[in-house]
Amino acid sequence: MPQPDMILLGPPGAGKGTYAEYLKQHVGYVHMSTGDILRAAVAEQTELGQQAQAYMNAGELVPDELVIDLVRERVALLGADERFLLDGFPRTVAQAEALAELREELSRPEPLVINVAVSDEEVMRRLGGRRVCRSCAAIYNVDRDGLDIGDKCPECGGELYLRSDDQPEAILNRLAIYKRDTQPLIDYYQQRGQLITVDGEQGQQRVSEELGRLVRAGQRDCQ
Ligand code: AMP
Repeated sequence: MPQPDMILLGPPGAGKGTYAEYLKQHVGYVHMSTGDILRAAVAEQTELGQQAQAYMNAGELVPDELVIDLVRERVALLGADERFLLDGFPRTVAQAEALAELREELSRPEPLVINVAVSDEEVMRRLGGRRVCRSCAAIYNVDRDGLDIGDKCPECGGELYLRSDDQPEAILNRLAIYKRDTQPLIDYYQQRGQLITVDGEQGQQRVSEELGRLVRAGQRDCQ
């Protein structure tokens, strides 16, 4: 019996990409990250990429119609036994409503909607602790790796620095945008009794295990 479709919500730094990869490998989801799809479209300069580029460069959301169309196309291609894991979509209530319509049209089961909750302080610590090598672009973390600005990169000896979008002010801005865009969405799913919140601060291993448990419970509910 296939697992339910999944929507993964969470602030920047919550580890959505890491958990999506884990679930893809261990459960067999088809991972759809709208951010990745849009970045590839920009790199290839497709029509969608050209339309999306200016919004993405400005850190703004791409218009709903464009993103809804691209998700619609991909979900419609899935086989009856394939399940999607959406990461970065929906980002607005209009997108959530379009997804609910699509689900009915295609007779797909209710998705699991999981919010990986991480406090603002923890987001600041995780993103603010990121250090990048100027020479080989390797990524480290002050807490995990004990490396800081001024230290040499263990890989290539290059200089470690703090990315401009990881400066405290830039992180606060990203968090404000996330809250502005996503809080109404969290309310939308909560009002429908669909939102499951997972504590994203209990360590990567435990979060992964909890997600796995939720998927198995959802599998039973689908039967
Ligand atoms: P992400 O990698 O998810 O942070 O997405 C990078 C950028 O792609 C965002 O800043 C938006 O410009 C755009 N984007 C990704 N997903 C969506 C979405 N669901 N709705 C609108 N814009 C999106």
